[in-house]
Amino acid sequence: MSRIQQLSHSVISRIAAGEIIERPASVIKELLENSVDAGSTRIEVDVEQGGAELIRIVDNGSGIHTDDLNLAFTAHATSKIREADDLEQVGTLGFRGEALASVGNIAQVTLQTRARDASQGSEIHCNGGVLSEARPWNGAVGTRIEVKHLFYNVPVRKKFLRTTPTEMGHVCEAFTRLSLSHPHLHLILRHNGKMVYETRGGTEDDYEEALRSRITTFFGREIGEMMYPVEVDYRDIKLKGFIADPAKERGNAKMQYVFVNNRWIRDRSIGHAIQEAYRGLLMTGRYAIAVLFLDLPKEMVDVNVHPTKSEVRFRNSQPIYHLVLSTLRNRLHQEDLTAQLQPPKNSGETISQPTLPEPDPRDVSAKDLAPWMPTPISDAHVPTSTGSPSAPMSYAPEPVTSPSPPTPRIHQESTHSVPPPVQSTETNWPKRSELPKEPIRERVLQVQDTYLVVETDEGMLVIDQHALHERVLFEEFKARIREGNLDVQRLLIPEPVELTAEQVAKTLEHQEALKELGLNVEGFGGDTVLLTSYPALLSKRSPQKILLAVVDHLMGQDRAPEREVLLNDLLSLMACHAAVRAGDRLTDEEMSELVAKRQLVDDIHHCPHGRPTALLFSRQELDRQFRRA
Ligand code: ADP
Ligand code: MG
Repeated sequence: MSRIQQLSHSVISRIAAGEIIERPASVIKELLENSVDAGSTRIEVDVEQGGAELIRIVDNGSGIHTDDLNLAFTAHATSKIREADDLEQVGTLGFRGEALASVGNIAQVTLQTRARDASQGSEIHCNGGVLSEARPWNGAVGTRIEVKHLFYNVPVRKKFLRTTPTEMGHVCEAFTRLSLSHPHLHLILRHNGKMVYETRGGTEDDYEEALRSRITTFFGREIGEMMYPVEVDYRDIKLKGFIADPAKERGNAKMQYVFVNNRWIRDRSIGHAIQEAYRGLLMTGRYAIAVLFLDLPKEMVDVNVHPTKSEVRFRNSQPIYHLVLSTLRNRLHQEDLTAQLQPPKNSGETISQPTLPEPDPRDVSAKDLAPWMPTPISDAHVPTSTGSPSAPMSYAPEPVTSPSPPTPRIHQESTHSVPPPVQSTETNWPKRSELPKEPIRERVLQVQDTYLVVETDEGMLVIDQHALHERVLFEEFKARIREGNLDVQRLLIPEPVELTAEQVAKTLEHQEALKELGLNVEGFGGDTVLLTSYPALLSKRSPQKILLAVVDHLMGQDRAPEREVLLNDLLSLMACHAAVRAGDRLTDEEMSELVAKRQLVDDIHHCPHGRPTALLFSRQELDRQFRRA
C-alpha cells in the first residue's frame, strides 16, 4: 500500500478541477472507487433516505495507515499519483486526492480503518471540514466510512436534493456502473436496511458468465438472455462485453454502458458508433442496449478531462470508433437479423474495402473484423469524444502514430428497410367520442348506481355497468393492440413508482409485454421504476394504481406465463381497473355511450372474468311473471 502525499502545485494546476459532489450518488461513486482502488474484494454499501441521511461503506481493502489519516482528508493529497507524468498513465479510478476532502467539508464523516500491516486501526471524524484527532480503533483490516447528513452545512445545496426515490435511483445507477465494471467483486447495496442488490464475485475465467449474471441482476432476465457477447482484439485495443438484440431497444441511450479501462464513461463518439452499428435495426429515436468494455494502454487515454472523470479523451479516437462499429455490426450480422439488415439495393458498389486500419496479418483476432459488413457506414459526422478533436491535451500528446482509417465515404440517405412503427402516440384511430354511436339513442335508466336498464326488441335488458364496461374496454384494448393503434399517453413528467427490489426486477422482466399494453416503464435503479406512458383508454384511473395492480398480478405468477396468456391476463386486469364501478353515478352521456358500445363487443354477455354482463327479461318472461300469458 502506497502512502498518501500532498501533490505539488504544479501537479494540482494540471488537474481538471470542478465540483465533484452533487448528490448522495456522487459520494457513493467516489467512495466505491476508493474501495476498489484499495484492492477490496468485498464492499458493502448501506444507505438511508436515499443517501441524504447516511451512507456507510465497508470494504476489506488495504486500509489507511494511521499516520496518513489527516492527509486522507486533505485536498490534493493522494497515494495514487506523485507527479505530473503520472497523469498520463493513470491506472487507478481515483488520482486527484479530492474526494474525501470534498465529502468531509459538506457532511459529518467518520472514517475507521486498519491497514493490512498494522496491528491496530484508527478512527477519525471530519465534520464540515473540521478534523478530529485520530483515535485507536479495533476493527478488521479495511476501511469503514460513514457519511451523515450530506450538505447539513450547505443548505442551498441540500435544497437541490430530490425525493428519496430519485436520489436512490441515482445511487443505484452509481452502484450498477461500478458493479458491471468489476464482476469479480462481491458487492452489496442496502437501502434503509433492505437489500437492494447483491452481486457475488465471479472469477476471471468465467468473466462472461459473471458479467451476464450482473446484467441480469440489474436489467432483468429478459434482457440478460437477449444479450450477445462480443470480444475482439485489435492491436492493443481490446473490446468486449454484451450487446442486446435490437428487439430490446430503449427510448434513450441510458442503457449504453461504456467502460474504458474499467471506468464508466460517457462518450459521444462511442455512443454514435453503437447506434450506427444498429442502423436499420432500430427506429429513429430508439437506442440499443449495450455493455461494452474497452481496454487500452493507459497512455492512450487521458482520464484527466472532467471533474467527475466521466469523460475521457482518446489519443486517437478513430480506431476506437471503427472497432466498436465493426465489431457490433459483425456480431449483429451473425444473428438472424438479415431480414431487416438489407444493404441498400441501388448503391451498386461492393463494399469490400475495410474501413478499419490495415489489420496486422499476424493478429488472428483482427481477421474476425473482416468481412466488413455489406453496408456503407455513415461516419461523416463522427462526433468527437470530448471537446474539439484538435483541442490540445493537458499534457503534450505524442504525434498520432497509428494509421488512420481511409477517409470515410459519405453515406447519403439510409435506404435500409426500417420496421414499421409498432406503436405511436399519433394514431389515426378515432378518439373515444368519435367512435360509431348507435343510430338511435337509447333511453337508459341507471338503477342503484350499479345497473343500467334499456329497452330492447325482446324486452328489457339489465346491464351490470362495471361488467359491461370492463368487457368493452378489454375488447377495445385488444383490437387496438392487434392493429398497433393503441393510443399511448406519454407522461410529461415520468411518474416514479416505488416497489420492492423484487417487484422492480419482475416489472422490468416484463417490460416488453407492458409496453405492448401501452405501459412504458423504465428501471430507475433500486426500488423505483419510472412510468413514462400509459394507455389513453385508462385516462380516468391513476396510471400508477394500474401499474401497481399489474405488478401484483405479475408477482402472483410462479412460472413465467406464455406471452399470449400474460397479455390477456394483463388486459383484463387493466380493463377491470379502468372500468366504472358499481356505485359510480353515471351521466346520461356516459350511460348511452356505454350502452351503445355493447354493439362493438362480440361477447357482451360475459365480462372477461366470465361473469354475465347483462340479463335479458324478455317480454314473454315478463308476461309470464305477471300472469298475462
Ligand atoms: P484519491 O482517490 O483521488 O486518491 P481521495 O480523496 O478519494 O483521493 O482519497 C484520498 C486517499 O485516501 C487515497 O489516495 C487513498 O490513499 C486513501 N483512501 C481513501 N479511501 C480509501 C479506502 N477505502 N481504502 C484505502 N485507502 C483509502
Ligand atoms: Mg478517490
